[in-house]
Amino acid sequence: MQIKAPRGTYDILPEEAVKWQWMEQIMKETAARFGYQEIRTPVFEHTELFQRGVGESTDIVTKEMYTFHDKSQRSLTLRPEGTASCTRALIEHSLYNGTLPIKWFYAGPMFRYDRPQTGRYRQFHQFGVEAFGSRSPFLDAEVLFLLVEILQGMGLSEYELHLNSVGCPLCREQYRQKLIDHMAPVKDKLCKDCQVRYLQNPLRVLDCKEATCHQAIINYPTLIDNLCDDCRTHYGMVQQTLKDNGIEFVHDNNLVRGLDYYTNTAFEVHIPGIGAQSAVGGGGRYDGLVESIGGPSLPGIGFALGMERLLLAVDKLGCVSRAQQTVDVFLAVMQENLENQAASLLYKLRQQGLSADKDYNQRSGRAQMKLADKLGAKYVILLGEDEIKGNFVTVRDMKSKEQWKIDNEGLIPFLHECLDNR
Ligand code: AMP
Repeated sequence: MQIKAPRGTYDILPEEAVKWQWMEQIMKETAARFGYQEIRTPVFEHTELFQRGVGESTDIVTKEMYTFHDKSQRSLTLRPEGTASCTRALIEHSLYNGTLPIKWFYAGPMFRYDRPQTGRYRQFHQFGVEAFGSRSPFLDAEVLFLLVEILQGMGLSEYELHLNSVGCPLCREQYRQKLIDHMAPVKDKLCKDCQVRYLQNPLRVLDCKEATCHQAIINYPTLIDNLCDDCRTHYGMVQQTLKDNGIEFVHDNNLVRGLDYYTNTAFEVHIPGIGAQSAVGGGGRYDGLVESIGGPSLPGIGFALGMERLLLAVDKLGCVSRAQQTVDVFLAVMQENLENQAASLLYKLRQQGLSADKDYNQRSGRAQMKLADKLGAKYVILLGEDEIKGNFVTVRDMKSKEQWKIDNEGLIPFLHECLDNR
């Protein structure tokens, strides 16, 4: 039987990989401009980290984790997201004692056992940032500017930014009770899951996908009307800073993060044109997370972008032209007995910083020119008997079709000059 990639996983073939490199470069360059440094953490961690860091009651932890026992019977889990691992690393290396805030970005594969569909995979990739060690609302705004700058860098300006504040443990506790009181008389109309969770975690009913739940709790008291003064001020400053800088957003009462360590700003970004899975990213402030993983009380904020969905958006909305991978020079060899010299010349071109390639399948002269075209070569070097005898090569500009005879010593500077002047 033919072995295929496991369900929910896929190969990124070279033609696609070029798009990934393009996207990653935009993300990394933008993050660097904003003062964020890269962190790389393991793809698997102790299961307990995600139970504590993502939350025991979340779908991710209850249904979607790839958990296994290693040969020493330790329970390990393939990371379903990046924040818990970053927080673990921050605590493990005591980095909270250094200069704050710490600003990190990461990019890499994440694993969730969910039903695969367009835009939803079991191994997918996220680019994320985390900033630890400041409660400033201007840091919330910075993180959102960075997110928007990445989208715009990719030519994705048709996004919708949803924003809410989930308050702090103090105001949320009072709000929680108000919500339970509102839901109790209509609890029978809630979906099965919500009938259970409305008592433990009524906020999660607000982001339930079932329309019937929303109808049942219509006119529910909103978080925004129940924030304490500090939380209201914080949220107001984040909103104002976004407005002052021309970033459009919609306040969304249903956007909640149902876990205790989430505080204040919560957000999600959608690109409506890409289908059912339109959320391309989400994030928020988590001032209680570091402590809940065993560290000191240290605030934090971050987001994660789904890289597959962003590429899907770029493909669907087609707003930018991406650079294709090309070569500077193609070396066309006219006789088989010149392969030796050709191998040395090709190596020399590459050592001198030029991207260069050749044929390895004894193609005819014409077929080699075709291949050069396919590889997007800017110049072709022709190497034949005459060239070897006369210590020169023929260089052909693939665009203008001009040809020159260049002596061997002058070849590299000539090519560099041509490429610089293009
Ligand atoms: P989350 O950590 O669930 O807020 O996810 C952040 C972003 O990652 C989402 O907005 C999606 O773009 C992306 N994402 C989450 N789960 C998947 C998945 N199973 N497949 C592809 N992308 C995903």
